[in-house]
Amino acid sequence: MPDFQKIISQVYQGLEPMPNTGKVANYIPELAHVPPQKFGIHLLEMNKRAHSVGDAQELFSIQSISKVLSLAMAMAAIDEKVWERVDVEPSGDPFNHLSLLEQENGIPRNPLINAGAIVIADILVSELKKPKEDFLEFVHQLSGDNNIAYDEAVASSEKSTGFKNFAAANLLKSYGNLKNDVEEVLDFYFYQCSLSMSCAQLCDTFYLFINRGVCKQGTQHLSLNQIKRINALMLTCGFYDEAGEFAFEVGLPGKSGVGGGIVALLPEHFCITTWSPVLNPKGNSTKGMAALERITTLSGLSIF
Ligand code: GLN
Repeated sequence: MPDFQKIISQVYQGLEPMPNTGKVANYIPELAHVPPQKFGIHLLEMNKRAHSVGDAQELFSIQSISKVLSLAMAMAAIDEKVWERVDVEPSGDPFNHLSLLEQENGIPRNPLINAGAIVIADILVSELKKPKEDFLEFVHQLSGDNNIAYDEAVASSEKSTGFKNFAAANLLKSYGNLKNDVEEVLDFYFYQCSLSMSCAQLCDTFYLFINRGVCKQGTQHLSLNQIKRINALMLTCGFYDEAGEFAFEVGLPGKSGVGGGIVALLPEHFCITTWSPVLNPKGNSTKGMAALERITTLSGLSIF
């Protein structure tokens, strides 16, 4: 195995001084306060050895990264039935686009764009006794860290400005692809997106995706086949209309969020999280993408 600590430190030092081109997400007002210069990288190897640099222990809003975790929980609950309500094709569109939803009769393109994640949230609202508590408990079990919590200020900030998500949920409802109330489903969705986690906590939580469905604590949560499906979706759909570019530059399955985090992974080898809040025009972290490109190039490790 390469010397990961050396590689991530070298990449961090090379990128840290570079000017931040792009913008911190501000359509969720609470996210606009995050200092743009924050930058952290954490890498967790399959053998559980961890490597950190910069602000890797600081909490940030994981936003869309949560869509992978809610999908994992929905698959654990109803397995292949998920695909009766959401497709598995890349959208080639921004994360909050609505036009395809109308053209395709209320079946979202995939579970990692907003409309798809809202359908997954609806499934969890139906399947779980106490959706918010049970989802948080699932994240605690995966990570082994009971300190992970929702950020109520972020959730209510998004609730007051999430007009496009209300539009998507209403459209889904009109096509019969939302079983519960729009308000109830979106309340859960805004909470799942508001999870506040560090790069290190995200690597711990995503360990099951490199370890055939067995989490860092040693419990089997998903089958190898379910992990194959979720990792495939991260590769083809994890970066909205930039999934092709991410596969081309970085060569790993992954998921980004508008809080500036990116989780990426090489099954059986390592999981890595970067955090830098300044986003490119497609909503992905500019420095995070650059860092991951350099790390897979320097280590010579990607799925290709
Ligand atoms: N909660 C955000 C939204 O629905 C998540 C978007 C993202 O991280 N891309 O707009």
